[in-house]
Amino acid sequence: MNRPGDAPPFELGPIRPVAEARSLLIRTTRGCPWNRCDFCVNYQDMAFSIRSVADIERDIEMAADYYQGHAFAGCFLQDGDSLLMPTEDLVRVLATLRRHFPSLERITSYGRAATMARKTPDEMAAIAAAGLNRLYCGMESGSDEVLRRIHKGTTAAQIVRAGQLARQAGIEVSEFIIIGIGGRELSREHALATARALVQIDPEFIRVRAIGVKQGSRLEQSRQRGDWVLPTEDELIREQRLLLEHLDGVSGYFSNDHAVNLLMEVEGQLPAAKDDLLAKLDRFLALPDEERVQFALGRRLGHYQTLDDRDQIGRREAVARQVEQLRRQYPGMEDEVCHALRERVV
Ligand code: SF4
Repeated sequence: MNRPGDAPPFELGPIRPVAEARSLLIRTTRGCPWNRCDFCVNYQDMAFSIRSVADIERDIEMAADYYQGHAFAGCFLQDGDSLLMPTEDLVRVLATLRRHFPSLERITSYGRAATMARKTPDEMAAIAAAGLNRLYCGMESGSDEVLRRIHKGTTAAQIVRAGQLARQAGIEVSEFIIIGIGGRELSREHALATARALVQIDPEFIRVRAIGVKQGSRLEQSRQRGDWVLPTEDELIREQRLLLEHLDGVSGYFSNDHAVNLLMEVEGQLPAAKDDLLAKLDRFLALPDEERVQFALGRRLGHYQTLDDRDQIGRREAVARQVEQLRRQYPGMEDEVCHALRERVV
């Protein structure tokens, strides 16, 4: 919630999760202490630093003044690794935040597994008691081989320990999974090992993201060298299906809540929704080849949101016309075009 034409007088970072669009943003750290994941360009040119408690508290006071009593329900702590703050500092910041914004029901942050796993259960409990109640964790994959190749800097065991530690302290865990991050070669290994890790954590949220190779990333270089091969739209859906199929006993909310995903309608509370979600993925996979291409391009071009949108004759015709044009311009490159369009989605 920003006031139009009036830049906030306190510091803001560049990124927040999709689910925090309406939240108060308070910056505790700048950048990412790791900053080496192959696929990530989020904080590429930013040195990591932990802001001082005094500076953060001053920002909280200024934010309270700036928003003039607006009753925020949520606050997201920016940037990449708030838990790297000494626990007593983070607890103090959380207390200040709750004092100035008493309406807050949810205080959240990104949580790097390697950092979280270093906290003791008592420290995690103190952070939870101070009010931090959700961590967004970039798991990306539960496969050690995939994690090693993308230079994630964490292991599956650390990811599982971090997730379990947070959940035991009463902090909700939201795991981001990148569908396709293992490339074609490790697609199956990625899906199955990720499902195994998620079963052990049983996080409150599982948010999948289709891979988009960012310009300037190391993954782009791997791709150019031929070391990593981009899966097709069909392969990404099949990989997601394999992951979902193996989430035995998982009870969290599964979602495709980002425009980078082909089938955003695949979301629901597990385990009850599992069959329905699998059926939605199967519905796409069962379409004739040309229908799948038309839907994927129609979706990437912004004509379609859901599979049902194909029933609208006007949209179908608009998609068919644009696909024909694209095929003349880029013959045989439908998947490449889909990727180029989704890579631009932030
Ligand atoms: S994905 Fe997360 S941990 Fe990796 S470099 Fe980007 S911000 Fe840092």
